[in-house]
Amino acid sequence: MADTLKTLKCPACGKDMEKVFIPSEGINLDICTQGCGGIYFDNREFQEFDEKDEDISKILEKISNRKFEQVDTTAERTCPNCGAKMVKNHSSVKQIVEVDECYSCGGKFLDRDELVKIRAEYNTEEERSADMLKHVYTAIGSQLEELDKRHAKSVTSRSSLQKLFLKLAGA
Ligand SMILES: [Zn+2]
Ligand SMILES: [Zn+2]
Repeated sequence: MADTLKTLKCPACGKDMEKVFIPSEGINLDICTQGCGGIYFDNREFQEFDEKDEDISKILEKISNRKFEQVDTTAERTCPNCGAKMVKNHSSVKQIVEVDECYSCGGKFLDRDELVKIRAEYNTEEERSADMLKHVYTAIGSQLEELDKRHAKSVTSRSSLQKLFLKLAGA
């Protein structure tokens, strides 16, 4: 999905979000500069900013050293781009920060201090992926074991069906 040029309403405080152009990426981010300091990323923008080696100075310029409205970060939010309900997910398997994600358009909303916290989780994209993979492998490993057990069972029931079939067929 491309950058949208329409003004988005902040999903946390309802104020109009400001389009902030990020020259290094050539994209516009939506930042709630008049309200709570939240940031909305579309589905491919976020990965350009979540690691320590990526430049967020333009974002920090907008959200540092200013007073922002306090918002309830646990409240349910609606995607400002497409109107779908957003879902809270941990930003990584470390489970430190919860991000609002839109499963419909892929957008993500971060409360003001969450970007900095997420960037502190890993040094590089590789470390983040490696940790995620480790987690996934552990989860898949136990699922495979379970599948193996079930499969073994279905093999036995299949062979007994086969015997019954052969018996009915008069073989
Ligand atoms: Zn806001
Ligand atoms: Zn959406």
